[in-house]
Amino acid sequence: MTIIEIGSMALQINRKTIKNLRITVLPPDGRVRVSAPASMTDTAIRMAVIGRIQWIRRQQRDFANQARQSERRMLGGECHYLWGRKYRLNVIERTGKHEIKAGRGQLNLYVSPGTSDENRVLVLETFYRNELKNKIKALLEFWQNEIGVDVADWGVKKMKTKWGSCSIQARRIWLNLELAKKPPECLAYILVHELVHLLERKHNEQFKAYMNRFLPDWEERRNLLNNMPLAYSQWAY
Ligand SMILES: [Zn+2]
Repeated sequence: MTIIEIGSMALQINRKTIKNLRITVLPPDGRVRVSAPASMTDTAIRMAVIGRIQWIRRQQRDFANQARQSERRMLGGECHYLWGRKYRLNVIERTGKHEIKAGRGQLNLYVSPGTSDENRVLVLETFYRNELKNKIKALLEFWQNEIGVDVADWGVKKMKTKWGSCSIQARRIWLNLELAKKPPECLAYILVHELVHLLERKHNEQFKAYMNRFLPDWEERRNLLNNMPLAYSQWAY
């Protein structure tokens, strides 16, 4: 996968054995994915996309409107995802510590009466961050050993265009907070992908060979990651 930028727009380019270029604008954030014939040059792709720019912008505007409409207040009743499962939010107002406890099909959000939407979202994000960090710790222990690399540092953050990133020189890995919403297999896939970058910088054949060796079903996991139903989230990928 390569990324081409046109103005402020980042295009995700997948070259495939197809005849015609296909442009897809994906919800919820309107990112643009382009499937292009293997032989098509970056310049030709750029020209083709520019020719469709009005259509792309229109799609993106529609998604932005939809997102605004479905942006729920954190009042309870709406759905949120955790590790690929759907939970209904249940708000319990009481004084004391702000926290979330996952129960059967429910995320119980404990907040003091009158807590703003913004702060309720923060409690949810903190919960996701902790969930993710706990899982990453366990996974790292296993996979560093398995792959024979080790990271100097790692963290979780919100990222708009990537599931993960790896700074090879600093041996530092970042993972997207949104991964807490996806099945755990997806987190492992991204983590392994980033660790493999410590062996091979580029997404070349060697990289693929490492992935096949360490995580033979990585493609299935990638598909799972990209096909999961989207949560009520402002951003995803
Ligand atoms: Zn990569």
